[in-house]
Amino acid sequence: MEFTFESRILIVDDELSSILVLEKAVEGLGEVRYSTNPKEVPQLVQEYLPHLIILDIDMGDKSGLDLCKELMLMHLPHSLTVMFVTSHQEPDLEYFSLKLGAVDYITKPVNIKNTRMRVSQQLNIINYQTQLENISRVLHREKEMLQTTLKSIGDGVVATDTEGRVTFLNPIAERMTGWTEKEAKGRTIEEVMELRDATSQATQINPIRLALQEERIVGMALNCQLHGREGQIYRVEDSAAPIRDENGNINGAIIVFHDISESVAMAVKMTYLANNDQLTGLPNRILLHDRISHALKAAEGGKTLTAILMIDIDHFKYINDSLGHASGDALIKKVAKRIESLISPSSTLARIGGDEFVLMLEKCSSVAYVAGIASNLIASFKEPFLIDETEYKITVSIGVSISPLDATVEETMMRHADVAMYRAKNLGRNNVCFFSEELENALLKRHNLEQLLRDSLDKGNIDVFFQPQVELTNKKICGFEALARLKNEEGDFVSPAEFIPLAEELGLINRLGSIVLKKSCAFAKRISESQLNYKVSVNVSAMQINSNTFVEEVADCLEQFDLQSRYLELEVTESALVNDFSSTQHKLKALSTMGLSIAIDDFGTGYSSLSYLKAFPIHVLKIDQSFVKDMLNDEQSLGIVRTIILLAKSLKLNLVAEGVEQLQQADMLKELSCNIVQGYYFSRPVVEQEAIALLSDWPR
Ligand code: C2E
Ligand code: CA
Ligand code: CA
Repeated sequence: MEFTFESRILIVDDELSSILVLEKAVEGLGEVRYSTNPKEVPQLVQEYLPHLIILDIDMGDKSGLDLCKELMLMHLPHSLTVMFVTSHQEPDLEYFSLKLGAVDYITKPVNIKNTRMRVSQQLNIINYQTQLENISRVLHREKEMLQTTLKSIGDGVVATDTEGRVTFLNPIAERMTGWTEKEAKGRTIEEVMELRDATSQATQINPIRLALQEERIVGMALNCQLHGREGQIYRVEDSAAPIRDENGNINGAIIVFHDISESVAMAVKMTYLANNDQLTGLPNRILLHDRISHALKAAEGGKTLTAILMIDIDHFKYINDSLGHASGDALIKKVAKRIESLISPSSTLARIGGDEFVLMLEKCSSVAYVAGIASNLIASFKEPFLIDETEYKITVSIGVSISPLDATVEETMMRHADVAMYRAKNLGRNNVCFFSEELENALLKRHNLEQLLRDSLDKGNIDVFFQPQVELTNKKICGFEALARLKNEEGDFVSPAEFIPLAEELGLINRLGSIVLKKSCAFAKRISESQLNYKVSVNVSAMQINSNTFVEEVADCLEQFDLQSRYLELEVTESALVNDFSSTQHKLKALSTMGLSIAIDDFGTGYSSLSYLKAFPIHVLKIDQSFVKDMLNDEQSLGIVRTIILLAKSLKLNLVAEGVEQLQQADMLKELSCNIVQGYYFSRPVVEQEAIALLSDWPR
């Protein structure tokens, strides 16, 4: 038998011969000491700490039994095993000795073989005992350590049984869940630990359940919130694992979690700081970059425009220096607020430098729309800013770049907007410039034209020119077409080809049309007094016909000027007819019933559909001037003119050919039996006075 520990044996006998025999019996079983003096034994035991004592019972004045009693009372680190040796044959003595705690009883004369066996068995037992003691000490220590660890770590720890019922809660878990371990024990993990998704607030499966179901370690759930019993909310990170016994069977699960509320808040704050300007809270250059690249991607291939407006406060350095930095900052903030108040939430306003802002507009329908926003911005600065009870007037310069018109990548857009902004500064500040001068000129022109149109309408300054229509058979004037004119500041006339589409776009066409109609009726009344049948033909656009009051307006106008309806003709384009078919049909029928005639303008350039011609009450076809212009040298144009004439004849419609500039054209048209013509060859459109003069002075 081998001993894993070094046993210490003490032999106590007053007879040396007896000791020698016993020593022989235990030889090799461990370290051996002996004593012949029982009085010194307690001291010796203290020092030597034997595992086993072989004790003689008869030792002069001190009996082995008394010594045993004494030794048993001593505090020793391990238990003492006592074996008695005696030559007594008294039967009770063995009983007493065993009762004292001895484990064996050897009789003299000592049988070496038996004694050795007995001692070795006792040592064996002692060995097991010692090992057990050690193991239990280690276990105890480990358990203590584990408890202290679990109790002192900064993470929350909750353990459950296999059913997910709580068996343990550490103090952090107690604090965060709001449950004490005592209260929580036996309740389900879901009751004690309520987990929700931080965004959707949907209840989350507790990782303990997953760990138990799937028998694996379950990593942290992202975006997880722990809702405490008293309403506290923590952002937590957690992970759970099944607990297995030594055979690998699962007998519970444990979840460890910690509060990341602060780090989440920190991360949110850092993202904000990284993406926003501290002073105004607006996006900074980094976030702007992100938004622009998204916008450009989203617009790719689409028909919409993305615009960048670089906005810079004029003379800000001067203002800042004279106001002081605190007031300068206050001004910047107010400027930011004002710009923000003018823009839609879908656009991005960023501050990218001291007094530099960038406004990004997505999905713009037109350049004019962008220009409108830019001029609104400029206009909004007319209102002064109030800083420390003092009013300050400032202006801004704006540079605009538009994708895909002048750039398609962000970097170029920013550079172009910057260049444009500097041009705005150079032009005297308080200005908007586009990167592309072409765009800018077009917009400027449009802007001026809009201004002129509005002014002219406000003042009723719409001129109407009249162009005579001539009957080829008798060379007499039979009517006039009324053509609108705007006079600009320089006294030049602006072509209606430019301002009519703009008036339609701006919703001003009805106002314009009313003025033209009135002036035309007034003119028609004047010339109809001569008793000759002069018709005045007025152009009306689709938007005018669409107006609910159109028929009424025409009727009122005739009444106002006391004009017979047969002297008035309306020219509409084919596209105006298709617009709102049945309502247009209805209105034209009403007008026709009233006695007006209806002409289709620019015939041949649009649908030229027979069914339309039949569906509407039409009296005249006007052959578009492009065909007349080319009919002498282009077979196809001539063919078209011929066809239109045939069509008109078969439908019994009158014909007017426009744009006659040469005698040959007139001759050809006459030959083709188109009798009425209009064009520069006979007369340009002229002012009313001149038109009246033409009548008495015709043919010239
Ligand atoms: P439109 O109805 O086809 O008018 C004929 C245009 O041709 C007029 O241009 C006229 O000045 C021009 N013209 C006449 N004879 C000749 C010629 O021999 N050669 C050439 N090259 N041109 C000739 P204008 O006055 O500039 O008008 C342009 C267009 O504006 C008109 O085309 C008409 O569609 C529109 N418009 C004019 N006045 C009004 C109006 O009061 N209301 C509406 N809705 N549209 C109008
Ligand atoms: Ca016309
Ligand atoms: Ca025409």
